[in-house]
Amino acid sequence: MNTLAPNPMDRRDFLERAYLAGLSLYGLGAASFAKWKKPRFHQYPFSLGVASGEPVPDGMILWTRLAPDPLNGGGLPPEEIDVRWEIASDEDFARVIRQGSVRASPDLAHSVHVEATNLESDRWYWYRFHAGDATSAVGKTRTTPRADSTPDRLDFVFTSCQHYEQGLYTGFEHLAREDVDLVFHLGDYIYESAGQSGRTRMHAGGELETLSDYRNRYAQYKTEASLQAAHAAFPWLVTWDDHEVDNNYAGSISENDDPVEAFLLRRAAAYQAYYEHMPLRPPAPSGPDMRLYRTSSFGRLVESLVLDTRQYRTDQPCGDRNKAPCRESLDSAATMLGDEQEQWLFREMERGPARWTILAQQVMMGHVDRQAGEGELYSMDQWSGYAAARDRLLHHFHQARIPNPVVLTGDIHTNWVNDLKLDFKDPDSPTVGTEFVGTSISSGGDGFARSPRTDAYLSENPFLKFFNAQRGYVRCQVTAEELRSDYRVLEYVSRPGSPISTVASFVVESGKPGATEI
Ligand code: FE
Ligand code: CA
Repeated sequence: MNTLAPNPMDRRDFLERAYLAGLSLYGLGAASFAKWKKPRFHQYPFSLGVASGEPVPDGMILWTRLAPDPLNGGGLPPEEIDVRWEIASDEDFARVIRQGSVRASPDLAHSVHVEATNLESDRWYWYRFHAGDATSAVGKTRTTPRADSTPDRLDFVFTSCQHYEQGLYTGFEHLAREDVDLVFHLGDYIYESAGQSGRTRMHAGGELETLSDYRNRYAQYKTEASLQAAHAAFPWLVTWDDHEVDNNYAGSISENDDPVEAFLLRRAAAYQAYYEHMPLRPPAPSGPDMRLYRTSSFGRLVESLVLDTRQYRTDQPCGDRNKAPCRESLDSAATMLGDEQEQWLFREMERGPARWTILAQQVMMGHVDRQAGEGELYSMDQWSGYAAARDRLLHHFHQARIPNPVVLTGDIHTNWVNDLKLDFKDPDSPTVGTEFVGTSISSGGDGFARSPRTDAYLSENPFLKFFNAQRGYVRCQVTAEELRSDYRVLEYVSRPGSPISTVASFVVESGKPGATEI
């Protein structure tokens, strides 16, 4: 045993002390706050809009944050403020059926996460907030069908990757007008990089490190009207990828291999700011860990498993870049989900009573070789860098006869459709699931429909059905018989007003894994 390495308890103590020291640096901690009894806001406090999420049969989470000066810490005194909320069964709030009051506290950046309960299943509601004499925008949200019901269909959109500097949020304008029940956000909600001039827009400030840095960045993104409209139109189920903290981080290892203790402080700040700005179920995280993986059901039609492929993974093998498979990428000890989450996932999938099993996650699962002709090139940040863990999952799909597994993926700012195979090298190997990879809202700029790479990717990877690099999102419709995906793409994001169109549609038939273009 290395005598220099602290034992696990000492290490834990150290991290806790470091975290508390970090909190006091941020001016936080277990403080108690006075109450601002009659708040008077100099500017509109609901500048970041409203949101809802985590729908269940009898309720959901309703979110807002008071921030009259959003880009500069919020602009409120360090006092608690009462926020009233209302839920109505009509758009004009003629029939308010639930209301209450919650405290917006400075230690959570004056955000609120209302746990609405006792609502009717499978229907739409409207909600809004009041603070002082200000009233928020109205949001629309819904409950899910009862667990034992068999709904005819579920319509949803999945989206990811909204780099503020690299393009406009035209995709969210269109998304807000879709007719869907739910939005999955698969991560890269913010990017942590310093502002760079010469782009479509510019981040305020430098690379994010502290809690106040992360808060101001969320605020900058959330002041966008089209993002607010998309939140206000539907409940969302969110998960993060890397840029909510640091590019390509893996567990406690940062992109630049910072000391672990320092990086975990940063991760704690990033996770807290994420919670503060998302319609997530309490409690808030307290420290560098936050459980985000969870299940969401839509009656007996769909069981969604929302995954976290960042917090528990082992380091990317052989450096983070594209490589041929190496000893580390084949190591059975390498993990994408961590043991606990992996076991949870296998259990949840087995007990799931639904027709369709959706994995909402971040990085590509298909073993896509990016090298034309001789030689192989795989992204070591994706499941190909964790090949044994992927094998365990795909074999579990097959052996445990998981009902209709469909994987939703973000991360790489391009559209792909993959048949998931037990052996990707063998075209005759069983297809055991289907993967839909969705492009970015704005990351990467205008993009392109076809490139010289398109044909190379398709000829190199027989299980690959589609590749496209335009911006947009993916809309899906699920019934007992099939899951249909529509790839919705924009012509440009460098200037406003792009129309949207469906560039390709695919169907997965129930009982027959794999996608067919229609
Ligand atoms: Fe991204
Ligand atoms: Ca090759």
